[in-house]
Amino acid sequence: MDAELLKPGQRIAALTGLTPSGEIGESLAFEEGFVVDAAASESTGDVLGETVDASGWIALPPLADLHAHLDKGYTWTSFGQPEGSLDDAIACWIDHGENHSSDDIKVGARRHLIAALHAGVTAVRSHTNYHLGDDPLRGVRALVELRAEFAGVVDLQIVASPGASDGPDDLGRAAVALGVDLIGGFPHLADDPSADLERAAAFAEEFGLGIDLHTDETLDPTSMGLAELAARTRHWPAEVIRSAGHCVSLSTQDAETRRRTLAAVADAGISIITNPLTNLYLQGWQHPVATPRGIPPLREIIAAGVTLAAGGDNVQDPFNPLGNADMVDVASELVIAGHLTPAEAWHVSSSGGRAAFGLPPARGRVGDVADVVLVRAAHVAEALAERAPDRIVIRDGRVVAVRRRVVDSVLDLSALPAPPSTPTTEGALI
Ligand SMILES: [Zn+2]
Repeated sequence: MDAELLKPGQRIAALTGLTPSGEIGESLAFEEGFVVDAAASESTGDVLGETVDASGWIALPPLADLHAHLDKGYTWTSFGQPEGSLDDAIACWIDHGENHSSDDIKVGARRHLIAALHAGVTAVRSHTNYHLGDDPLRGVRALVELRAEFAGVVDLQIVASPGASDGPDDLGRAAVALGVDLIGGFPHLADDPSADLERAAAFAEEFGLGIDLHTDETLDPTSMGLAELAARTRHWPAEVIRSAGHCVSLSTQDAETRRRTLAAVADAGISIITNPLTNLYLQGWQHPVATPRGIPPLREIIAAGVTLAAGGDNVQDPFNPLGNADMVDVASELVIAGHLTPAEAWHVSSSGGRAAFGLPPARGRVGDVADVVLVRAAHVAEALAERAPDRIVIRDGRVVAVRRRVVDSVLDLSALPAPPSTPTTEGALI
């Protein structure tokens, strides 16, 4: 059958006629949830599922969003359309957070996950706040519900902090009891960042959980939380997740400091998660001349042997009015603002994220899980440039989402109404 006709729920035995892209060639064969050798699979003749003509499509590793805030999504308008720096966004969140109900959180988070799924994102790691007002655990609870709802389609990891850096850790303990996956925090915002990092690490150790900290989200070059996190976690067992999000101050430090820090990060097995959209937006408001970008040195991170992943971070909330849950937008920014190649940007936004998440590889190699995203494009660069609207998401050898954008247009320009003979200000194009 033709790929155009695929619908969610259909099982796929083989994809043929693909435009080769990256590691994946002209065909892929799936069996029992894994990629198998195409030639061997054809010879058996009794494989379950459709053989699909995917002419005009490329197959790529599925996307992974390693830094989201599902509990904040789509609040830009209702929270008063704030504009400004990280401090401004935090102040806005505090002003309006009390009114952000459990239902509001669930509606926004579900909308975010559905948009992400249709874009080809099959793994999301989300941080969540303790919300102001009654029931501060309503964000954690909403995400725990959604994690079960989307199981098998979008993998969701939930990150919650031990509680306010200067308060008791009761909320953190309650969140762990509800089933969060990782311990988070924001040491660079605490009065004593080192003590706050130590508190989060000790809390994670107490429960045998991994850690994902907002780290050095500041242009202050003296912010060295990443190096401290490396020193603090380097003796943890290899399978325990440790990630550092943002790492903005790395972009403001000298070459030798960066080299030392990244060597320690690689040695400690820490993954770095860059969030270019939000940091391009939040950083630099106080620097009208030679405005800094707030993006860590991505190429140096990769060269140091550190696992690099990426996140969309904020979706139409006080921290970024323009996020849309599509990691293709993030990958595009990794090229334009982060100076990666399109292939590197897709790798960071897919396989890099899966590695940081702890998921098995999905590169289309024999033995990998049968998860890919089909994109109607000639190559990765075109997929990013065009934001390739048509995508088919395959998970466990089965279609889980299809996104099609239909555009109507008048190709016979003579059929358009004649323009007014005398141009007027009213009729001018703007
Ligand atoms: Zn964040």
